[in-house]
Amino acid sequence: MSDIIQLLPDNIANQIAAGEVIQRPASAVKELLENAVDAGADEIRLIVNDAGKQLIQVIDNGKGMSETDARMAFERHATSKIRNIDDLFHIKTMGFRGEALASIAAVAQVELKTRRAEDENGIRLEIENSVVVLQEPVAFEKGTSVAMKNLFFNVPARRNFLKSNASELKHIMEEFIRVAMAFPEVFFSLVSNGQEVFHLTKGTLKQRIVQVLGSSYGSKLVSVQEHTDYMNIYGFVGKPETAKKSRGDQYLFVNSRFIKSPYLNHAINQAFHELIPKDSFPMYALFVDLDPAEIDINVHPTKQEIKFEDEKVVYAFVQSAVKHALAQFSVTPTLDFELDPGIQQLDAVSKPLTESNQQAAQSSRLFQTFSKSNQAHFIERRSDLKNWESVYPEKRYSTPDTEAAIPPAATLYQETRAMVEQAMEVIQLHHTYVVVQTDQGFLVIHQQNAHERILYERYAKAVIGKPIVTQQSLFPATLELSPGDALLLQEILSELSSLGYQIESFGNNTFIVRGTPADVTQGDEQSAIENLLEQYKHFSSELKFSKREKVLRTLAMQHAIKPGTALNKKAMHTLLEELFQCEQPSVSPNGKPVYQSYLNTELNRFFGR
Ligand code: ADP
Ligand code: MG
Repeated sequence: MSDIIQLLPDNIANQIAAGEVIQRPASAVKELLENAVDAGADEIRLIVNDAGKQLIQVIDNGKGMSETDARMAFERHATSKIRNIDDLFHIKTMGFRGEALASIAAVAQVELKTRRAEDENGIRLEIENSVVVLQEPVAFEKGTSVAMKNLFFNVPARRNFLKSNASELKHIMEEFIRVAMAFPEVFFSLVSNGQEVFHLTKGTLKQRIVQVLGSSYGSKLVSVQEHTDYMNIYGFVGKPETAKKSRGDQYLFVNSRFIKSPYLNHAINQAFHELIPKDSFPMYALFVDLDPAEIDINVHPTKQEIKFEDEKVVYAFVQSAVKHALAQFSVTPTLDFELDPGIQQLDAVSKPLTESNQQAAQSSRLFQTFSKSNQAHFIERRSDLKNWESVYPEKRYSTPDTEAAIPPAATLYQETRAMVEQAMEVIQLHHTYVVVQTDQGFLVIHQQNAHERILYERYAKAVIGKPIVTQQSLFPATLELSPGDALLLQEILSELSSLGYQIESFGNNTFIVRGTPADVTQGDEQSAIENLLEQYKHFSSELKFSKREKVLRTLAMQHAIKPGTALNKKAMHTLLEELFQCEQPSVSPNGKPVYQSYLNTELNRFFGR
């Protein structure tokens, strides 16, 4: 028998290897845009025809290439970005494998034009099947243009695999946005079939987010920013009310590289826990920067996955940074209340942290996590991180944390609350809104949303701790329910009992109500319980909450003061007081905003003052 093993010809080997890097037009787009960024361009234009199947061209004003480099660039493993294996651990550029251009040249007809600032002429190359078929001088501005035509013209099997134009264009836009988002200081445009789809002028990250994701985010972004010796995080998360039913506007970048990390995504979603319904997704555009030696971006050919040296630290850091940002945004108005000059002199105000509230603040986990050297999130360097678990005493990184964040500043509010109260101007409008003056303007509070939040947190504490006091009924009411409702009620009896309802099953779909929560007026128990079950069913069909969570939400909704209820001054003060003692005063348990703040500066601007 003769030998049967053969070496594959170069062009076939290249085509096979190219399949790893260039799976579809969007992968080529990503590689070309990244090369343009790496070349230091601050203007990058992407042109596609036929969703990239016919043409993908990227034109940049970066540093360009010499003649030799231009030819070299298309060789496999040709890169200017690393020289030895060590460099791999200090990568600051987007590319480094030296495979992209070689892969593109193996599966498309390529035209390259490039010129460095110092060269008189540019050069133009045409490449087909990995071979340079033409080279000539060309007049060209400083920078580089790579045009690839007829993607997969020589690999029909792959070409047939491409999806519809709509679908391929969607992928292209995704890649475009990921790069554009990471470099707001660079101008980007995308022209598809002669039509400009994106025109992104240079600006700040916030401006870029709004340009790309829409102006509805304009005033709805919360800034996240924490710096430590070990890592930095910055960027924005959407306010809870911008959360969407589909996972869409979520962008995470590590060292400016877009990555997919279900693990960190979980960290961020957990930070929104209780602020948004369980089945919705918060918007975020967050950038984590850390020493490249701490990560391995080499694990995936298209470089969207990442391995961290110590992923638990990264998880904890990302989560607490987002929590901190959200907590700051939600309690800000509590710190703005106007203080009467007389009150301002008082010790509790001028010396904010008395010993007792200092102790209270320090024993809170959050304080321990946040307060070192004035950084919200002090994380010690990895080398001396032996004790890092004591920084996160309850392993906040692995168990979903049910408690939301309260910065120590809230303690100050509680201390002075009683005094500030007298200075508060409050009025009720339309028996629905409570308006309260603050030192910088005023807040409009929705009374039902606020009360739902208060009750929800009160009930949540009751089911895990001290049950709510029951008021015994003098004349226990008998309930007769439909079989379905009876089953439901049976299911939640124990939750209801910790919330102050003493209900006994009597068989035959009949129940006896022996007691109700002390703060609920007794009366028509039959319809009260029926309403409660109705609401409960509504949650069952709509949302995937736990049983307890559904009971909490149901009761909070049911017992909250409704629009149309008149409140006197004392009731409004109590409402405000209790609201701002909540851990998350700014949103109702169902994610609706509780208040809107108006600033004098805005009003003055409106009135031309
Ligand atoms: P990598 O980016 O991993 O180095 P590529 O195949 O993408 O590999 O590019 C090979 C080399 O070609 C790069 O290292 C760079 O030196 C050069 N190059 C590619 N695109 C450009 C560009 N737009 N401007 C200047 N140089 C470029
Ligand atoms: Mg590259």
